Amino acid sequence: MSEKGPEPEDSGELMYVKCAYCGKWLDVKPGQMNWVSHGLCDDCLKQELEKFKNPVSESPPASDHPLPRGSNS
Ligand SMILES: [Zn+2]
Repeated sequence: MSEKGPEPEDSGELMYVKCAYCGKWLDVKPGQMNWVSHGLCDDCLKQELEKFKNPVSESPPASDHPLPRGSNS
């Protein structure tokens, strides 16, 4: 029983998938070592789809007001 074979986890080749928008880690799956892939998380994907559906016309001249979003710090 002195045989120390390589464990299946030893290769450690994992690919990390990160959201290109908010930087949230989405997934880790077998792949190339130290490879980071970029995708979109559900939230950002939704925002992108909304953008396509309702294209915003340029940036507003005065956007000083905070976003009416539920902010729980
Ligand atoms: Zn995101």
